[in-house]
Amino acid sequence: MSEQEPSVFSRIVAREIPADIVFENERVIAFRDIAPKAPIHLLVVPKTERYRDVAELAAGDPGLLAELVETASTLAREHSDGDFRLVFNSGAGAGQTVFHVHAHLLSGGLEEGTLGKL
Ligand code: AMP
Repeated sequence: MSEQEPSVFSRIVAREIPADIVFENERVIAFRDIAPKAPIHLLVVPKTERYRDVAELAAGDPGLLAELVETASTLAREHSDGDFRLVFNSGAGAGQTVFHVHAHLLSGGLEEGTLGKL
């Protein structure tokens, strides 16, 4: 039996690797993406790595998904003008590289027609 390595985001939660953390409570953490794709690009992440993607999270803990969205909305107001785009890459074919569910919170001067360019 092989034990799975903690995800990079679990290692951020555990303070094993550094991150620019902007919010944290018992169940959720948010920090700046290391390779930003928008003026404001935060990752909003459940602390548990039990759910690989947003569909698993919605099925397993819809309340936690709602908490992610609420946190994102609050952070968009705090860090920008309150308007935001929330992206959950789900599966390698959609660009997911970290299989610990996370929302990309993008904000600040996003233009129409840029949705597929993330
Ligand atoms: P995804 O491709 O949707 O799985 O998103 C993973 C995101 O995590 C990418 O946008 C990366 O830039 C970001 N990322 C990876 N490692 C770190 C890190 N140590 N600190 C902050 N963001 C990271």
